[in-house]
Amino acid sequence: MIFLNNLSVTYKDGTVALENISLELIPGEFTVLLGASGAGKSTLLRCINFLTVPTKGEVIVEGLGTLNNPKILRKHRQKTGMIFQQHQLIPRQTALKNVLVGRLAYHSTLRSFFPLPKIDQMIALDCLDRVGLLNKALTPVKQLSGGQQQRVGIARALAQKPRFLLADEPVASLDPGSSHKILTNLKKICQEDGIGAVVSLHQIDFALDYGDRIIGLADGNILFDSHPSEIQSYQ
Ligand code: ADP
Ligand code: ADP
Repeated sequence: MIFLNNLSVTYKDGTVALENISLELIPGEFTVLLGASGAGKSTLLRCINFLTVPTKGEVIVEGLGTLNNPKILRKHRQKTGMIFQQHQLIPRQTALKNVLVGRLAYHSTLRSFFPLPKIDQMIALDCLDRVGLLNKALTPVKQLSGGQQQRVGIARALAQKPRFLLADEPVASLDPGSSHKILTNLKKICQEDGIGAVVSLHQIDFALDYGDRIIGLADGNILFDSHPSEIQSYQ
């Protein structure tokens, strides 16, 4: 479980990005954060992954909530795999090497990562297989299409063996066809593994197609928190 208790974030310039957000996020559920640009979606995801420290309130992931202990921080990062809009891959490296980055969270020093343990390689290859890219394992990611690069990003997050996948506008820079393929793939993987997904989107159509639960955000506040059928009945 992820608990957000009275979470607020005010940036240094005074921008209030989140105001008193309280939420429980459940493994196995595909939760969509729906909102326009500036609503606070990225800030919320970054708080869950401890990339942003909240001004007020707390985040508890699978019972752990301490921020200033590096060991616990590493455990948090294992449990929450992050997928970014611009993938944040290393372009000149192969798909396999990029996915192996997801395994770093399991090694306390870089030294224990070389030579590369077989188990990490096997997990990375299995993750590439699950996004349909096993045949691209040795291809540098800069030679892959946008949709394929995003699938490498998903495989990297999956290689962490997370309890939650956090995806910040994962399809914002893709065409509708590739977007549907990515979201279908992501949802299937989460269902098979019982992983909770928290995915930010700005398109209501995608939210209705894929969300088990849709949380509407505007100006750092929760507007609604509903099952897709409840939203469809408004339309
Ligand atoms: P979204 O992901 O929904 O677009 P964000 O969480 O990125 O929303 O942003 C929420 C608000 O916080 C916006 O007003 C944005 O301009 C502001 N913001 C985001 N990051 C920063 C930052 N580092 N410094 C100041 N303001 C920021
Ligand atoms: P792009 O749209 O970026 O060119 P695609 O998503 O269309 O990339 O994928 C390219 C090829 O990979 C297509 O033939 C597609 O059917 C196939 N493909 C896409 N997703 C998967 C998947 N999860 N498993 C297996 N094959 C896939």
